[in-house]
Amino acid sequence: MPAPRRRDGAGAVRDRADACPGAWRRHAAADGALARFRPVGGAVAAAELRLLAGAAGNAPLELTSRGSWQVRGLSDQGADDLAVALSGVGGEAPLLDAQGRDVPCSVVASPRTPAADAPARVIADALRGRTDVPGRLLVAVDDGSGDVLGLDADVTVVLGGTLHLAGTPTDVTGDPAALALAAVEAFLAVRGDAWRVAEVGADRVLEGLRPGERFGSSERPEPLTRPEALEVLPRLGEVGAKAAGVLADLADEGAVLRATPWRTVVLRDAPADAVARLDGLVETGRSRWSTLSACVGAPRCARSHTDVRGDLARAVATGRAGGLLPAHWVGCSRACGTPAGPVAVVEGTPSGTYRTVVRAGRVSR
Ligand code: SF4
Repeated sequence: MPAPRRRDGAGAVRDRADACPGAWRRHAAADGALARFRPVGGAVAAAELRLLAGAAGNAPLELTSRGSWQVRGLSDQGADDLAVALSGVGGEAPLLDAQGRDVPCSVVASPRTPAADAPARVIADALRGRTDVPGRLLVAVDDGSGDVLGLDADVTVVLGGTLHLAGTPTDVTGDPAALALAAVEAFLAVRGDAWRVAEVGADRVLEGLRPGERFGSSERPEPLTRPEALEVLPRLGEVGAKAAGVLADLADEGAVLRATPWRTVVLRDAPADAVARLDGLVETGRSRWSTLSACVGAPRCARSHTDVRGDLARAVATGRAGGLLPAHWVGCSRACGTPAGPVAVVEGTPSGTYRTVVRAGRVSR
């Protein structure tokens, strides 16, 4: 597949459409249809988790680098049935609302405190069902801790702080949800065929925002307190059926679940025995897997030269992977899912061996 043609430094001309999968638009992978469900600030309810796990069958659910849930190996009918079932769950921040509308782009939020929940809900509900919002767009609500600010999202609002566009701070303040939505609209007005704010330039988006008074007040939240929250790490973002079942049970017992953009699950108000119940199903403490990520590889991706995840598991077991530097294992040079920041990309080659390239930033795919 050809890469997007660059027109000039400030804009891009795409010769392919944004093909990000969603609840209704699936990606046809080698192992069947792949559906992606974008939570509102990472929120997932027990009933939703059970439906996702049930549809995945023996395969694990996948957490993406934006905190979305993916289900692989679906038939078209099975994918439709799953979306319809999720539309019936309801709740404050459903994956799909009662009209079957999902959120077209990722809306992530600081997962450990409730402060960012409400703005994330307002943003997501305003965008639901929109077809003019690129799936690649990333909107973040940071509670002031800086955790999701570090993602350099296209649009980030910091509670009690300012707007950031593509990682660039601005001096624009306002009600966080109103400000984020205004920034999204300003981007849509100038984006042409671009998918990300960085492609058109933060300055052009900022021009569409002034004057800032129309975004309401920017109330500084109460001093940020970060209550104890349990954070667990599914290896490579894979949540098996048993783990999903325990997480759902814990949610029934009062835990608030948040999928994070670093492929973990945060549990607020988790029962005291949560760690014991999750032990062995996900990583609950220090782990060599915490710096590792991987694409799906063979056999699930037809392009892959190697069994990426199997090879990585063997490397971890023998102490050859899992150091301080983040490493991302991939089955070919497309390097799907390479995380932002310094990372060693361990790339499968046609000979079945791997070569390692240390990269300083993101490879956008
Ligand atoms: S990096 Fe290559 S092998 Fe891995 S998922 Fe992407 S296309 Fe497939």
